[in-house]
Amino acid sequence: PAPASPAPTGRRASADAPLPVLGDDVLAPLVTGGEVFYAALDYAASAPVLRRVWDDVAAYAPYYGSVHRGAGHLSQVSTRLYEESRATVARFLGCRPDDEVVFTRATTDSLNLLARALPTDTRVFVFETEHHASLLPWRGHRTTCLRAPRTPDEAVAALDEALRAAPAGPKLVCVTGASNVTGEIWPVRELAAAAHRHGARIVLDAAQLAPHHPVDVSELDVDWVAFSGHKLYAPFGAGVLAGRTDWLRAAEPYLAGGGASKRVVRDADGALDVEWHTGAARHEAGSPNVVGAYALAAACRALEEAGFDRLVRREQRLLARVLDGLADVPGVRVLSLFGPEAERVGVLSFVVDGWNSSHFAAALSAEYGIGVRDGMFCAHPLLRALLGGAPDEPGECGGAPAPDAGTGERSLNAVRASFG
Ligand code: PLP
Repeated sequence: PAPASPAPTGRRASADAPLPVLGDDVLAPLVTGGEVFYAALDYAASAPVLRRVWDDVAAYAPYYGSVHRGAGHLSQVSTRLYEESRATVARFLGCRPDDEVVFTRATTDSLNLLARALPTDTRVFVFETEHHASLLPWRGHRTTCLRAPRTPDEAVAALDEALRAAPAGPKLVCVTGASNVTGEIWPVRELAAAAHRHGARIVLDAAQLAPHHPVDVSELDVDWVAFSGHKLYAPFGAGVLAGRTDWLRAAEPYLAGGGASKRVVRDADGALDVEWHTGAARHEAGSPNVVGAYALAAACRALEEAGFDRLVRREQRLLARVLDGLADVPGVRVLSLFGPEAERVGVLSFVVDGWNSSHFAAALSAEYGIGVRDGMFCAHPLLRALLGGAPDEPGECGGAPAPDAGTGERSLNAVRASFG
């Protein structure tokens, strides 16, 4: 069995030690004393919260109050800050003036919301390489799942072909901007152009792209974008779906309840007649996660101020170092769909000859203080395309259990290191 997570004995830093991974004031994660790993390399799952974000949230704390509900001063200020957070996210994403920003719980929630808002008979197109969050929400609709392409051009050609062959009717393409397994960047602009050539809409899963790379909805010409605050150096619990309003406004509210409803009347027969809001509120029923939205906007501001040019340069230097280092280790294979020339963000996965990935990851943590992830990364079809064959176990999001080390069976899991 996999070893129970042993206490790490590797290199550690104290709270006052310099932070080598995110080394300046704007980007330093909060360290609350005690011991931290020198290398917490699992940003792709959840990145550390920026100190700046916690500070901004603390500054907001005195104004904490209900939004869109209260007449009191705190409610008024809180409502203003909540709506300003929406505007900050819209600016961060380069939204068009008439786009809507809906606050959700995270990317999974955003894509499920969109799936519920699709017009009847929408046909959905995805690649098998997607994270399960962008692969599975469409299951109630007719879905075409395209094979893993081996180059960005092949991806565009395959989508173009599939859309050309599709019957008339509403269509949606869902594509990830950067893979959570390989870190490879997908040709989003070209895929969007292909979608629009055939009258389809496109939603970008930017969960892994947005923390590493500017995402400009207008320039990429995508119809919607989804991402998660907790991967963007903000705390858990808030995400975004932003984009075109028409399908969202025509759809039933994602949740029925207060906040989404404008007018509710009991008619003479005892039935309820409801008029729903048309804006973002339509899909934000219930008391929203105001702190989460505020923190998410604070992370957007911090990244804007730090400047993506600088961040991308720094991250690419780190990435080159990791890839060079791994190239020198015998038996290590870095996973890639698009080959060595592919553009990547700071996310990569590898397998090591003769090692079970879970054991390898546990050893990295225990002996070197390097925290990585192992498993199938909620992308089972992609792992199969990269490694061949069937998975060891249905590993879902917790990572597949380690197979018995004694069986000699080849592990189809991988180890992932990710950083920013
Ligand atoms: N899409 C991609 C590419 C991801 O990497 C993830 C999370 O790992 C998700 C979607 C789902 O994000 P969340 O768990 O925040 O909903």
